[in-house]
Amino acid sequence: MAQSARVAVIGAGVAGLAAARELHREGHHVVVLEKRHSLGGTWLYDSRVDSDPLSLDPARDVVGTSLYHSLRTNLPRQLMGFLDYPFAKRPHEDQRTFPGHEEVLRFLNEFADEFRLRELIRFCTEVVRVERAERRNDAWVVESRNHGSDSAVVVREVYDAVVVCNGHFTEPQLAEVPGIEKWCEYQIHSHNYCTPKSFMGQVVVLIGLGPSAFDISREVATVAKEVHITTRAPNVTVGKSDNHENIWLHKMIEFVYEDGKVVFQDGSSVHADTIFYCTGYKYHFPFIETNGIVTIDDDNRVGPLYKHVFPPHLAPWLSFIGMPKQDTPFLTTELQSKWLAHVLSGKVLLPTEEEMMSDVENYYHHMEETGVPKSFTHVLPPNEIEYRNWLLAQVEMPPLKEWRGRMYRECVKFAKAKLDGYRDQWDDDYWDAVIASQEVNHLA
Ligand code: FAD
Repeated sequence: MAQSARVAVIGAGVAGLAAARELHREGHHVVVLEKRHSLGGTWLYDSRVDSDPLSLDPARDVVGTSLYHSLRTNLPRQLMGFLDYPFAKRPHEDQRTFPGHEEVLRFLNEFADEFRLRELIRFCTEVVRVERAERRNDAWVVESRNHGSDSAVVVREVYDAVVVCNGHFTEPQLAEVPGIEKWCEYQIHSHNYCTPKSFMGQVVVLIGLGPSAFDISREVATVAKEVHITTRAPNVTVGKSDNHENIWLHKMIEFVYEDGKVVFQDGSSVHADTIFYCTGYKYHFPFIETNGIVTIDDDNRVGPLYKHVFPPHLAPWLSFIGMPKQDTPFLTTELQSKWLAHVLSGKVLLPTEEEMMSDVENYYHHMEETGVPKSFTHVLPPNEIEYRNWLLAQVEMPPLKEWRGRMYRECVKFAKAKLDGYRDQWDDDYWDAVIASQEVNHLA
């Protein structure tokens, strides 16, 4: 007979909502603890920013998310739905294939209403500590504070299982910049960027070449005097951008000086007003106490995690949903959650602790042998299709249709090739026909 567990899900973003739905469907008793006033996580835009523009102060109040005001998705909406609940276009709403962030939030709210997830969520409730119960090895004590009432009061509750869905786009990762300790001009991380207006007339040096760096550099260039993008990526064509009068590409920063001078490794230099870090984020679980069983190392590897979800020694009572990077998070968190829900109800058995550990070690070994840096531990591509189909196989569901993997790869390639305006050059008719030919119920 299926077992039912009392489960605490931490966070009501995409991962927490996906986990709550699957766990609830499977008959578990679910409580979602969310520190903000509403659901959506990253997609719940807030124009307030941290008091410290680099977010270095551990005591700072993290108020906003890492979205900026003008953000449109960097994936087509077809890749941002759930298997049985696609992110469909609706009349009178944002109809674009790469919609604005408000449309994603609307979708998530509708998803929560459709599956009655809102009633499982305790808003304004921040989890401050999670640790194993002293007397029961398979139980967890979860301590939380309610920001709506007396936030000094810590509530202690015991759960059978804890599912960590706190996201990984909040704790900035900074690049090392030689000479920065004497730098007197402004510095900011993209986590604290909302609009370009404060960069009016400035010379901005922006570090990074990912999707946020791409969008933000273009937007800042509309008001700044100059934008100098610097990257450690090999094979960059150094020099002025073909499409923009005031954007340059450089190799990494060699040194920065007190008077605002920035020297690049390609030999050029500028006097800058701002260093802007679009250098990504770190995993961060300040509330979990596992006595060193789960660690985050300097390369941002969280481990050991079997298939990015279960720490073998604590499985299945502690799990992490949404760890993978550079992927389609909606679908992956949904599939991870299905697997988790089935494991907790005893319908799917995990391998032994030793077997899971050995799987993790083999994975690390394979990365090392093939020259994949440790910082790529949770980057799914190029194995994302294999990973997702593996998860599906655990719950006896058929593999994904071929269009999903192909669309993701085409989108990454297309964005790189078309650069500016790629979102509005996507061939909707072509992809609609591809999906219709493969899916019985094509709704998107
Ligand atoms: P989050 O959305 O971060 O949610 C985590 C939740 O946990 C939050 O609500 C937070 O308040 C809560 N929480 C954290 N700590 C605690 C605590 N201690 N107690 C209680 N609650 C807590 N993905 C796409 O699919 N398409 C895109 O186009 C796309 N663009 C992106 C652009 C940017 C700039 C960024 C930063 C991300 C983008 N992503 C995109 C990835 C995006 O983060 C995922 O789509 C998704 O939001 C991840 O959901 P999550 O639930 O894992 O994390």
